[in-house]
Amino acid sequence: METYGGVVDALVAGTWRHPRSGAVTPVPVESIVIARSLDGAEADLVAPLLGGRRLAVVTGERTREALGRRVVKALQALGTVEEVVWRDPRPEAGAIDALRHATRHAEALVSVGSGTITDGCKYAAHLDGKDFCCFATSPMNTYTAPAASITRDGFKGSITCRSARGAFFDLEVLSRCPARLVSAAFADVVCRTTAQVDWLMSHRLFDTPYVDTPYHLLAYDEADLIERAGGLPGGDIEALALLTRVAVIMGLATSFTGTSHCGSMAEHMISHGIDMFAGAAHPGSSHGEQVGVTTLSMSALQNRILGDESPPVLRATAFPRAELEARYGAEMAETMAAQSAAKALDAAAADRINEKWAKDWDGFVAPLRAVMLPFARLLAGMTAAGAPRTAGELGLDPAFYGRMLRDARWTRDRYSILDVAGDSGTLEAFASEIEAQPPSRSGEQR
Ligand SMILES: [Zn+2]
Repeated sequence: METYGGVVDALVAGTWRHPRSGAVTPVPVESIVIARSLDGAEADLVAPLLGGRRLAVVTGERTREALGRRVVKALQALGTVEEVVWRDPRPEAGAIDALRHATRHAEALVSVGSGTITDGCKYAAHLDGKDFCCFATSPMNTYTAPAASITRDGFKGSITCRSARGAFFDLEVLSRCPARLVSAAFADVVCRTTAQVDWLMSHRLFDTPYVDTPYHLLAYDEADLIERAGGLPGGDIEALALLTRVAVIMGLATSFTGTSHCGSMAEHMISHGIDMFAGAAHPGSSHGEQVGVTTLSMSALQNRILGDESPPVLRATAFPRAELEARYGAEMAETMAAQSAAKALDAAAADRINEKWAKDWDGFVAPLRAVMLPFARLLAGMTAAGAPRTAGELGLDPAFYGRMLRDARWTRDRYSILDVAGDSGTLEAFASEIEAQPPSRSGEQR
């Protein structure tokens, strides 16, 4: 088998050590295999994890053709295998119940699919106390993540689940995955840069917890991935291997850090804001596509503020309750007030930070600049990967997007560059500038 595991292999084998502490990082997914082709190896991969049990292989109509039939056939060598085609895969409680019913005779589940099928199986297996393995059909981070994105009572959230016991990536299968899924997966992992800067900044300002293990692991492949992003839409195996390794580590990161901060800061708040508030005007863009655009916005803002020679001057946080109430209703404004209260600065706190910055701005920003990507490099990567780069390219009204840039900071208690911009009085001008951007950056090919 021609494998492309790289640092992931060392991590799973327990031979990778943190460069400073020397610690070995435990990995909750026992077996992670990334190979050019897994054709013929499927039963050997699954046997040590789920062998001897009655299996249900869950596929969708499309992923069944891409890989599902092959996996079902191969696993029959292990014993009883039932094929379950999930015809209407939706990440919702009702659809999950139907899946649990359809797999009720199985002792363990094997999923063959992308985000919704994998998350559905992960959650169904979790609820039923069954083990589960997944075969990937796209290079996303969900396969190794200990959580499923599920809608309950109309509210979309991330639900903590048991991790898969095995996650298997056949790069030739991934190379036939729709280009739009690949570019979205790329966009959703390069948010590393803006999330790390926000999370580290919060740590340096307020001493909030910060764990750098995932970032050391991502650093092995991120630069090459961005460099080779142009190979992704055409299914270049080397480029897909880079993306798969980075996505695998992003998925595991929550397990390493015990929180999603590592890959979810301001750029994710804005994307969640779009999902919460766009209503009927939501263009149907995916999570990854939105995060690509919001990552570019936050990268521009971080580079502007943290790249400046002199520090911004913060004032006490002014929560615009009346405005938010008028826009989103009293209940939502109350939720926002509660989230924001945890990180709001009073005048004394703002002064303390201003003093600290005035004394040694360079010392404060140096570690942040060290992990911040230049905006132009990020933009070039997104362009090469074929990912949307502006609100207009997502199909969103730029004015609505500008509104989300202004308001997203109130939706979550995580302190980000949006808070620095808001409290220093520069967020308004930044949002107006982004609103005025041309819908598609002229002169560049999508
Ligand atoms: Zn994401």
